[in-house]
Amino acid sequence: MFARLFDALFPGRCVGCGRAGTVLCDACRPRPEAARRTCGPGGLAIASAGRYAGVLRRVILLYKRGRRDAGDALSSLLAERTRGILAPHHVLVPVPTTRGRRSARGYDQSVRLARALGKHAGVPVLVALVQSAGDAQRGRSRSERLAARGRFSCVAPALVAGTRVVLVDDVVTTGATLADCAETMRRAGAVVDAAVVLARA
Ligand SMILES: [Zn+2]
Repeated sequence: MFARLFDALFPGRCVGCGRAGTVLCDACRPRPEAARRTCGPGGLAIASAGRYAGVLRRVILLYKRGRRDAGDALSSLLAERTRGILAPHHVLVPVPTTRGRRSARGYDQSVRLARALGKHAGVPVLVALVQSAGDAQRGRSRSERLAARGRFSCVAPALVAGTRVVLVDDVVTTGATLADCAETMRRAGAVVDAAVVLARA
């Protein structure tokens, strides 16, 4: 609420050219040619809007600091650059933000990004993945931990089985996290069609 009011009272300047009134003007948006479709670990198709550098990186950093207008600009950019990948029969599943990062900011940015993207693209969102490492692993026996395999768990297997999933994340580096998430969703019975991310490092 307060953040929204703050954004309305102090609209950003374009991070690229300094123009007032928008955090990312049309002229400074990453070009469509910057978007890529690559093949990540496990054969997962990964679509990104651009490289994690320059203007795109600066807008992502503002978004990570909680600026809503940056989130709006990024989700609309991602929706445009992933047109043709997302379809109404898909379900968007956000990659969980690590515990430390989430508690520091008080919200999960990949959930927000997925919800905004879902609104733009007309695709439902299911927050089906959580991190299973750390606290959740403590107190378990070795065999229980081995059975849990991987760093993520699916919390809604009944809803997930039989769906066609597209994973959503902000920045992809090696793609290992996306591959882990894809594997977890597949074990829960989903078909993972692709991942869409804002930027590739
Ligand atoms: Zn600009």
